[in-house]
Amino acid sequence: MKLGEILIEKYHIPAVYIDLALKEQKVSGEKLGVILDKMNLVPPEIIARAIADQHNYEYFNIFTSELEDFECDKEIIEEYKMIPISVDNEYVTVGMVDPFNIDNYDGVMRYFQKNNKKVKIAIISNDTYREYLERKTKISVEEIKKYLIGNQTTFTNKDLSKQLVDTEKALRLLLLKGIYEKASDIHIEPTLNGGRVRMRIHGTMNTIMVINEYELLRLINVIKLISTMNVAEKHVPQDGRIDGTFLKNERYVGVDFRVSAIPNWTPERLVESIVIRILDRRTSIMPLRDLGMDKNTLEFLLSCKNRSYGMIIFVGPTGSGKTTSIYSTMATINAIEKSIITVEDPIEYRNFLWKQIQVSPRLSFADALRSILRHDPDILFCGEIRDRETAEIAFEMANTGHLVFSTLHANDSVKAIMRLRELGISRGLIESAVLGIISQRLIRILCNKCKKPISDAKYGVIYAAQGCPSCNWSGYKGRAMVSEMFPFEEKTYHIVDLVLKENVISAREQLTKIYGNMYLNGIEKVKEGITTLQEIEEKCK
Ligand SMILES: [Zn+2]
Repeated sequence: MKLGEILIEKYHIPAVYIDLALKEQKVSGEKLGVILDKMNLVPPEIIARAIADQHNYEYFNIFTSELEDFECDKEIIEEYKMIPISVDNEYVTVGMVDPFNIDNYDGVMRYFQKNNKKVKIAIISNDTYREYLERKTKISVEEIKKYLIGNQTTFTNKDLSKQLVDTEKALRLLLLKGIYEKASDIHIEPTLNGGRVRMRIHGTMNTIMVINEYELLRLINVIKLISTMNVAEKHVPQDGRIDGTFLKNERYVGVDFRVSAIPNWTPERLVESIVIRILDRRTSIMPLRDLGMDKNTLEFLLSCKNRSYGMIIFVGPTGSGKTTSIYSTMATINAIEKSIITVEDPIEYRNFLWKQIQVSPRLSFADALRSILRHDPDILFCGEIRDRETAEIAFEMANTGHLVFSTLHANDSVKAIMRLRELGISRGLIESAVLGIISQRLIRILCNKCKKPISDAKYGVIYAAQGCPSCNWSGYKGRAMVSEMFPFEEKTYHIVDLVLKENVISAREQLTKIYGNMYLNGIEKVKEGITTLQEIEEKCK
């Protein structure tokens, strides 16, 4: 099968995109996958997945699976565009962007044969490759310090602005270091005669650098300035935020920094302590069928591209992969013939076929939606409905010829309806506008190398987590989605009715009868040996 056919039939990519790329191919002569990537028509992970299918290779995605990572020369990684994935006694598994390039392929084979290993190849996307390089990048303390050291005695205006620019650079490097090292937060705090910078990495605090008083004060001032705090105010706690765009690189728009400053009294002086929490929400668009959702949800989402109005709502806690589901659904919609606008906070993935708006303190969800109305999009993704005003406009749009995707803070699909009522949406509007509600969670996938069969009284042979070097002794590797579906259609109207009458328990019972639920979907995954019973009990009850 040709790559274009696989993309259309198996991954539901609009045929128009393939036609366009094929036309371009006649001119440039490049490979179809390369063109689709260059023209931003198909998300990189979907292209890689389809190429793997076409040639019967494995596929590896760094955003959903964990690397075992083993020693490998940097030159090999860069020259052949490959990444080390895992190793055992006999084989190494490496990811390659283009193993069809004979030079690359031969180079990799020679390198590992020299080391007495057989090679298994998995296809990776350009995005996965770039992400790997980024995680390998090290920013040294010396580099950061270079921009922190200034002339502390002469404070002419000219020096001041240069110092500001330099300190901003130092902060940028510090934040990047935090991202690269996967730190959850960065602490900038005074010590007896200066200050120190610490990072919490995998739950442990590490001192990154020691700085002098001048450096500390400059760093604190710049952080307060950039995160829109009152720089002069030192006596009360303040909160602020630094946008990913501060890093001046497209790749980090999905990262968000929450800043908190507290006055920190020492006998000699009043200096603040600052904590920067790093929220790395970057995600990738994946083939819908790979997300692990149940069959009903998958079928429902695949049918979205044929709808012209209404609202589809995703519920689940933060970090349950709702945005990935929405992005992946939207990737199946023809964005060349339809106009797609997103309003997000923050933008977690850039797709150049969509118009994407970042919400900010100066631009609320409701304001953004109001201005979008005039652009009359066919499809709208409203990142979150969290207030009455946003809810009203989003529902008005859904009811007047726009297909709207959104997320809602609620525990499950039944409770979501009650939440909408709380937000002031009328019963009639809920019934006429909502097409369906999807509730989802992310669960951990058992490590294939160490999972242990056990017998369970109810389910027979299932697996337990154990731990080995390959999974960092956690017993798990990678994550998958469990979901439940509540479509609004004739046979479920009586259930909507039950919820509106606050008869939640029987509503849930009736819904389970027709569509199952998240817990049952999770149990399926336990029986298939994908995850543990414990994981489902914890996350899906
Ligand atoms: Zn393991």
